[in-house]
Amino acid sequence: MDFRKVQLPREIHTGAGIIEETGSICRNLTFEGRVLVVSGPSTFKIGGEKAIESLQNEGFSVKTLVIDKASEEAVQEIQNVAQDASVILGIGGGKIIDSAKLASTRNGLQFISVPTAASHDGIASPRASIRNENGSISLKAQAPIGVIADTEIISKAPYRLLAAGCGDILSNYTAVLDWQLAYRLLNEDYSDSASALSLMSAKVLLEKVDAIKERHVESAAAVVKGLISSGMAISIAGTSRPASGSEHKFSHALDINAPKPALHGEQCGVGTILMMYLHGGDWKFIREALKTIKAPTTASELNMDSECIIEALTMAHTIRKERYTILGDRGLTKEAAEEIASETGVI
Ligand SMILES: [Zn+2]
Repeated sequence: MDFRKVQLPREIHTGAGIIEETGSICRNLTFEGRVLVVSGPSTFKIGGEKAIESLQNEGFSVKTLVIDKASEEAVQEIQNVAQDASVILGIGGGKIIDSAKLASTRNGLQFISVPTAASHDGIASPRASIRNENGSISLKAQAPIGVIADTEIISKAPYRLLAAGCGDILSNYTAVLDWQLAYRLLNEDYSDSASALSLMSAKVLLEKVDAIKERHVESAAAVVKGLISSGMAISIAGTSRPASGSEHKFSHALDINAPKPALHGEQCGVGTILMMYLHGGDWKFIREALKTIKAPTTASELNMDSECIIEALTMAHTIRKERYTILGDRGLTKEAAEEIASETGVI
């Protein structure tokens, strides 16, 4: 017998100023008593304070923890102080959300995701990426029970984060192509509905790229929507396959070999151009979309040299080997990597 479980968020709240409703949202989700708010040093001021005020107004007793990185120690620290909480809220960027999500999973507590930026699809997904000595690893976690995405706060975050979020959404195109390839070649588990949702998230964003602007609430809303639906595609699939393929392997390779890695979504965006070229798809379309959004499309815009890109391309297939992609089992030769990177204008 083949059992399957799909875990999705129960409530998704978006809108300008919605963070001020945090208390009533938690109340309606039937939480009571003590709440743990996990935030970062700057995101605490941006979002944490408002959320805490709202929680206290609803009679919750709030405990706060400020962390500054997504490490195993940070997760452990959250687990230790979360013992008597009824729910954990992660208020911040990817690191905060991922650490709080993983800690809540391990403690058997519910988790509410309160993003202050829209930079990657971990906002609503059942995955958490945690830093260790070999770069970052993506771990299985529970999906948040609720998402509270204040589009006004998100629109005020540095624009670079929003552009990176767009890169993470556009990477769904090559991720789905890789997944279909693995399905055809290796009979890997495949879900039409997860693929369709993932592709739709990317397509809806692609249709709006001209309207994505800095400090603009509707732009923030559009990107958040794409990231949440990408996260739900991951939930439906039960694997990150619909939103992570060869372009993510390339990004993880850069995380390891670049002296100073760029943002996850920025690297995935450039990876999508390269992998779309390998798939024989419309890579120029992806590149134009990223340019319109003002996301990086070249090595220099990622602040990296050509060597770094070539090296990442030749080692990308070694990352997460069991995940078959267009890179195959043997990967690219140095010559092929140079050709692809220069042909696409990345180097
Ligand atoms: Zn991603």
